[in-house]
Amino acid sequence: MSERLNNHHAGSTEFDIMIVGGGMVGSALACALDGHGMKVALLDAGSAPTDSVPVTTGFDPRVCALTEASRQLFVQLGAWKDMVADRVCPYKRMYVWDGEGTGNIQFGAAEMHLSSLGHIVENNVIQGALNKRLSAGDVSCLYDSKVQSIEPGFVTQVGLTDGRVYKAKLVVGADGAESKMRQLAGIPLNRRDCLHHAVVTTIETERYHDDTAWQRFSNTGPLAFLPLPDQDGKHRCSVVWSQVPEEATRIMQLDDAEFCRQLTRASEGCLGKVVAATERFSYPLRHRHVRRYYSDSVVLVGDAAHTIHPLAGQGVNLGLLDVAVLAEELIHAFERGANIAGASVLSRYQRRRMGDNLAMLGAMEGFQHLFGADALPVRWLRNAGLKLTNRLPEVKHKLIRHAMGLEGDLPRLCREQTESPAA
Ligand SMILES: Cc1cc2nc3c(=O)[nH]c(=O)nc-3n(C[C@H](O)[C@H](O)[C@H](O)COP(=O)(O)OP(=O)(O)OC[C@H]3O[C@@H](n4cnc5c(N)ncnc54)[C@H](O)[C@@H]3O)c2cc1C
Repeated sequence: MSERLNNHHAGSTEFDIMIVGGGMVGSALACALDGHGMKVALLDAGSAPTDSVPVTTGFDPRVCALTEASRQLFVQLGAWKDMVADRVCPYKRMYVWDGEGTGNIQFGAAEMHLSSLGHIVENNVIQGALNKRLSAGDVSCLYDSKVQSIEPGFVTQVGLTDGRVYKAKLVVGADGAESKMRQLAGIPLNRRDCLHHAVVTTIETERYHDDTAWQRFSNTGPLAFLPLPDQDGKHRCSVVWSQVPEEATRIMQLDDAEFCRQLTRASEGCLGKVVAATERFSYPLRHRHVRRYYSDSVVLVGDAAHTIHPLAGQGVNLGLLDVAVLAEELIHAFERGANIAGASVLSRYQRRRMGDNLAMLGAMEGFQHLFGADALPVRWLRNAGLKLTNRLPEVKHKLIRHAMGLEGDLPRLCREQTESPAA
C-alpha cells in the first residue's frame, strides 16, 4: 500500500466518509468535502500518482468536453487554474451535421454573448490538477487499496484485498462503471448495451479546427473531432468515433495510413486531410442507470451510478453534478449535526440527481435511435428538424444552455462565480 496521510488523520482507520475510487469524480468529491471538519479518506486500487512526468508531454487520447457548470465546480475547488496552466482548449462553436443528408446545425458562443461554449480537457490534465489539490489538503489518500468487502452497520466496515479493514459512517462508491461498491451494496442496475464501441485517438489535421467541435452523424454512429491546442505548429483534434462493434474492430486493425484515409473520408474532409494519428483505443459503450442511488450507508456517484453514450460529451459532467449536490447535502447535514448517512440526507441527493440523469440518458437514447435509423421518412424528418432548429434562435439558446449544464436546479458549487474565467 502507498498512502498519503498529510495531516492529523495519519494512521487513522476510522473516518466519517470513505470515498472508494479516486478517478475524476471521486477525487472531485474528496476536494469538495475537504476542509469542512469531516474526516475523509479517498481509496483507490491504482498506484499513487507521480509527478515526475509532466502530464502534457504527449496528448491523452481520452478527453472530456467540460460544461460551464463543471468548469465552475473546478474553479471553486481550486483546481481550474492548474488545468489552465497545463492545457485546456476552449471551443467557441459547434457544428453538427447529418452525414446521410443535408441537415446541419451550428451553435456559436458569440450568439450567447459568451467567450466559449465549453472546454476540451484531457483526462490526465483533470486528474493531475485534482491530485495536486488533494496533496495540499486534509483528505487521507490511500493508494494500492482495492476494496473487496463491506459490512454495513451503524459504522460500515470496509475490507481490502490485502486484509486491511477501515471503518466509516458513510461509504461513497465512485469506483466507475463496473462498480464493486454497487455490487456489494446490492443496488440493482438497468443496463442497455448501446451496441457501439468508441474508437478514440488524437489526430493531426491539415487545417486548423477553428475553435470548433465538429460532429458528423451517420447511421453507423457519430464521429466527433474535438479541438485541442496547436503544438509545434501542428493542428490537433481528439477523435471519438462510435461504431458498431464489428466495424470498430475493423477500424482498430487498420494501419495508420489507411486509418487516416478512412477518417478523412468519414469526416468529409471537414478539416482537410487527417495527416497522422496516435495509438487508438476502443471502449464498449453502455447506457446504464441504477434503480436507486444509495442503500444503507453506501451511496453512489458518477459512472458507478450511470453511464451514457459519449455523443453529447455529458458522462463526467453528470458525475460532477452528482459530486456538487452530494457535497452540498453532506456538508449541510454535518454542520447541523444530522446523521450524514441518514436516509433523509441520501434521499435528498437521490431526488435532486436521479431525474436529471435519467432525462439526459433518455435524450441520448433518442438521438441514437433518430440518427441510427435508415428509413427514408426518418431521415427526411431529422434533416428538416436540424434545418428548422438552426433557424430558431430561442430553441437554439435553450439547447446551448442545456448542453453547457446551465439549466435546471444547479448546485451552489456549479453556479457562476464573480471571479473571471481563467481561460
Ligand atoms: C470513449 C469515451 C469518451 C468519453 N468522452 C466524454 C466527454 O467528452 N465528456 C464527458 O463528460 N464524459 C466523457 N466520457 C465519460 C467519462 O470518461 C466518465 O464518465 C468518467 O471517466 C467517469 O469517472 P469516474 O470517476 O466516475 O469513474 P472512473 O474514471 O472509472 O474511476 C473509477 C476509479 O475507481 C477505482 N476503483 C475501481 N474499483 C475499485 C475498488 N474495488 N477499490 C478501490 N478503487 C477502485 C479505479 O482504480 C478508478 O480510479 C467518455 C467515456 C468514454 C468511454
